[in-house]
Amino acid sequence: MSPDTLRLGQRLARQIEAGGPISVAHFMAEANAHYYASRDPLGVAGDFITAPEISQMFGELIGLCLADVWMRSGRKGAPLYLELGPGRGTLANDALRAMESAALAPKVHFVETSPTLRERQIALLPHVSFHDDLSTVPTTGPLLVVANEFFDALPIRQVERTEVGWRERVLIGGIGEPGDSFIPMPGYRPMESAVPEALKEAPVGSILETSPASATIALELAHRIARQGGIALIIDYGYEGPAIGDTLQAVRGHQMTDPFTHVGDSDLTAHVDFTMIGNVALQAGLRVTGPVGQGAFLKALGIDARAASLSRGSPERATDLQQASERLTAADQMGDLFRVIAIAHPDWATPEGFTPGA
Ligand code: SAH
Repeated sequence: MSPDTLRLGQRLARQIEAGGPISVAHFMAEANAHYYASRDPLGVAGDFITAPEISQMFGELIGLCLADVWMRSGRKGAPLYLELGPGRGTLANDALRAMESAALAPKVHFVETSPTLRERQIALLPHVSFHDDLSTVPTTGPLLVVANEFFDALPIRQVERTEVGWRERVLIGGIGEPGDSFIPMPGYRPMESAVPEALKEAPVGSILETSPASATIALELAHRIARQGGIALIIDYGYEGPAIGDTLQAVRGHQMTDPFTHVGDSDLTAHVDFTMIGNVALQAGLRVTGPVGQGAFLKALGIDARAASLSRGSPERATDLQQASERLTAADQMGDLFRVIAIAHPDWATPEGFTPGA
């Protein structure tokens, strides 16, 4: 455990000592802010691998999808490429290269809070503009937006059905063992108002998740697209909510671990509620397409043809390309677990990739 991790654990333990239990949402926000700020978590030597790190084909197909929508929507304005949580910048790099082949060279804007990852991104894309959040992103020019495995890192609130009603899940502990072993339990504050009528009678012990942080960002993004034009492709693992289930998980060194230990030293994620994102977009007047499985999406965009063409150019890579394509699209790998939803200005064309064989 690094000294910084110790400080975070101690800090949270002290907060609990002074002010009482902290919410799961507060814990997740603090833990992930520390986690991403202090390392590059991606790759074999890190904690997890994402689709753009598996193959260049992922970013290329996303870039071509965006370029195609832009062209079919009348080539409006000078579009901005905006990525939320761009990791190492690999997806953007591959997407922008593909866009360039379609004669599209947008200005690049990243919403990224991690100084460590910003350094990696700027090494790959020196001209990128950084933002802590959407508020400083330019307010003119249509937006071509990508968010891959971004929303799953944002804090969730958990409410739990107890014998005496629904309560927010909170954490105690940490004292005496700084940075370790926080213990979840239902808090005292009634949370009935956060639970939809249809789920109110769920069995005792049931957990319902919401993500006010995700809803806020989705709404701000949707309003920007409504005002500036454009489209966002959001890719993540998720469900159609609201639904009962505890999806909070921690990954460290490619292994699942307890989310409430190793605070700030493991990647905390939760499944994304695609219905919430869709509803927020509809409310802002946008058109929603999907979600569809990542496998179906990439197949419809032509991943097989892309793999074949790359293999012709570099026959020694053919097996690797085949395996990468399989990993990204197979139902028992990332193909069904990960899904893609598009939210777009109503005057913009519908993106390809959402209907079989499109
Ligand atoms: N999209 C990348 C990385 C996914 S990891 C890929 O597919 O490889 C999550 C990314 O979101 C990281 O870049 C992390 O630093 C960033 N991130 C996490 N929480 C954030 C927040 N609240 N605001 C902005 N960026 C955040």
